[in-house]
This record gives sequence, C-alpha cells and structure tokens, in this order.
Amino acid sequence: PACTRDQLTAALRGLEDRGYLTFRPADRTGGVELLRPHEALVLDEAGMKARRGREYAKLDRMVAYASASCRRRYIVEYFGEVAPFERCGTCDACRAGVDTVLAPRALTPDEVEVVRKLLACLARMERHTSQVGWSTDLLVKTALGSQEAKVVQLGFVGLSTHGILGTEAKRPWTARELTDLVRALVDAGCLDETYATRRISGKDRTYRQLGVSARGWEVLRGGGEELILAFPHAHKLVARRPTASAGPEVPSELLALLREVRAQLCREADVPAYVVASNRTLEDMARLRPLTRKAMLGVHGMGEVRCSRYGSPFLDAIRSWAQGA
Ligand SMILES: [Zn+2]
Repeated sequence: PACTRDQLTAALRGLEDRGYLTFRPADRTGGVELLRPHEALVLDEAGMKARRGREYAKLDRMVAYASASCRRRYIVEYFGEVAPFERCGTCDACRAGVDTVLAPRALTPDEVEVVRKLLACLARMERHTSQVGWSTDLLVKTALGSQEAKVVQLGFVGLSTHGILGTEAKRPWTARELTDLVRALVDAGCLDETYATRRISGKDRTYRQLGVSARGWEVLRGGGEELILAFPHAHKLVARRPTASAGPEVPSELLALLREVRAQLCREADVPAYVVASNRTLEDMARLRPLTRKAMLGVHGMGEVRCSRYGSPFLDAIRSWAQGA
C-alpha cells in the first residue's frame, strides 16, 4: 500500500482540523463526509517541508541527548537556560564519567583560519556546481584532497581548496576530526543543515545536507574574530598557539588597565578580587581582547552571570585601549 493505516488516519484528522471534512474512525460506524466539496484543497508544501526538517532536527537532539556528558545540563540547555554547573554529578552519564563536551569559546587566529578554509571549500563546491546542499562526507573528502570517483566526477579535484586541510596542510586533519568540526560549525550557525529526501530504489531516504549560512559568509569575509564555538581537536594547533606566558600576546598595559578596573569593581561591590575575576580570567581577557558581550562570554571564567554583573566596565576598558593602541 502507498501509505499505512496510521498515516491515512493522521491525514484525515489533518483535513478535519482544517474544516474540509468530518471523519469518524471505522471501528465504530465509520465514514468520511466532505464538508466543502466544491472548494479546492490548499496544501502548504513549503510549510510541510519546513515541518519535516524541524521533526528531523528534534530527532537529532534526541540522539545527542543519548550521548550527552551530563543529562541534566543537556535538558536545562535544551530549554534555553544556562546551567549553573558543568556536571550535575548525579545523572547516569556523570556517574559513568562520560567525557565532558567542549565549551563554546572565542577562537585563536589559527583556529579561525581553519574554520575559514573549511567554509571556503564548501563555498567553492557550491559555486563550481551552482548547487547548494552537499553532504558532510563529500565536503570532508574534498577538503582532505580525496581522489575518490565522486570527487573527481564533480570536478572538485580542480578546486583551489581541494586538499586544503589534508594533503596541502602542514598538519593534515583526519576525516573524523573534520566531521567533528563540521558539527561544531553547524551548532555555531556557520553552516545551514537541511534535510533532503530522495527516492532511491523505491524507498524514501532522508539525508542531511550542508550550505554556507549568512553567518558563515560573514566569517569568510573576515568576521571570524567574533566567532564563538566549541572548537574540536584544538591540540592539533597547539604547537602554533601562543602559550599562556607569552609576553607579546598579553599586552602588559592592557593587563594593568584590566587590574585597575577589577580593583575599582571590588571597592564598589565590597567583594574580594576573585569574585569579580581571577588572574587567569584577566590574562585570557587581555589575550583575546573581546569587543562584544558575546565574545566576552568566550573568555575563561566569564559566564553569563559574571558577564552581566561585571562585563561592561571590562569591555569599555578593552575598547578604549584598542582605540589608543
Ligand atoms: Zn549530570
């Protein structure tokens, strides 16, 4: 049959809700009566497609719940709140010691460069084919410089970004690592993920497909400094990342200025220094130099609460320093 009994019942219920017919299930007297037989049926296909996408996204979040590092935190964040803890310590995942998920943060210039390379690779694939909506698998293979038949057939081997993170890179990424990065970019809104359904040998198959989002284009055009994301496998870039004690990366005048701001805030609120910001927080702030509240949230130790309470004076100080520097 073209559809199951449940699907047919659901469709009839839908038409009933919209006032096209009345319907009683067959297990009683049963029957369908058309209420507006002369009116054309209006179907909102775009709406149905959007709804299908939302249902799949919900399914994905359910799958993510199964592998969450703390189930309670996952639920709290699902409902749009900020958990005051990283681990609740009492859920089954916490007790089993599941690895903690990476927290979103501001990126180093090297990390921004990797993000731009991956986004540029997808953008070139889109431009080359005049088609939006490629799978993670194909994007990763192209970025790694794969010579697989499909990559060759689509002409992706000729792109300047072919192999940009694999054969062409100093420290090649693996397919699994890049797949994690794609995931993080979807979560950060740099990539749009949609669902496409195709009929293959008589069966409907639904696939995830990627496109460079408006935010992704901003990053490609140089807006990456404001990017907040949970960058996976950062250790790959560690050798080229500035160390915590590196002199030039933490401008001493800025650090001194931030210490003054902290002292002022301590006096005003009559609290000890560590309540406002730890030394490590100030150093991280001086290194990352956030200019917006969102970027400030990427600084070590600057959560929502601390940011609302003490964020603005620090932001003002960094802005005035940046203008003078
Ligand atoms: Zn937990």
